[in-house]
Amino acid sequence: MKGRDHSEMTHSLEVMISARRIRDRVKVLTQELNRDFQGRDVVVVALLKGTVVFLADLIRGIEFPMRLDFMGVSSYGSKTQSGKLIVTQDLRMDVRDRHVLLVDDILDTGRTLHAVQRRLRRLQPASLRTCVLLDKPERREKQVPVEYVGFRIPNRFVVGYGLDWDEHYRNLPHIGVVKTAA
Ligand code: 5GP
Ligand code: MG
Repeated sequence: MKGRDHSEMTHSLEVMISARRIRDRVKVLTQELNRDFQGRDVVVVALLKGTVVFLADLIRGIEFPMRLDFMGVSSYGSKTQSGKLIVTQDLRMDVRDRHVLLVDDILDTGRTLHAVQRRLRRLQPASLRTCVLLDKPERREKQVPVEYVGFRIPNRFVVGYGLDWDEHYRNLPHIGVVKTAA
């Protein structure tokens, strides 16, 4: 599949995880959440913007009472590397004494989730659990407790299903790998 040029570079995209595989896996994740959070009142905290597609699929299968809030975080640094974390949008909901399910797109170095989890813990939730769509264990710098993982993937830069490359490709229904060519 040929990618659309949005930079000077030519590149193509290869499918890493098909839409069907994603759908099947997300269904299983939702079932695990329904089992583990049964009877609880939960605040789902999602990190913008990479989670939006995953989140929409995930929460539609949820059967326990839940409310949704967002946090915006972004990192300085080059496009494909995570730098210093800045909070661009803070939580609106009070999560004190609430069960919090934190949702993110990718766990990579772990710096983002390490910082976000620390920030959330200071708000004294009743419990904090984390769900990520993708885990790239090879680049881990910070050990981060994550209870729910969609897929473990190798250290490649991926796009689609909410994930971007320079804000492009979030709309792809599958997860793809960017291949750059000179
Ligand atoms: P960490 O702080 O764990 O290194 O980085 C996590 C964040 O980096 C993710 O939430 C995501 O925004 C971004 N990221 C890491 N790897 C990828 C990738 O392969 N593709 C995209 N689009 N973003 C990534
Ligand atoms: Mg992110």
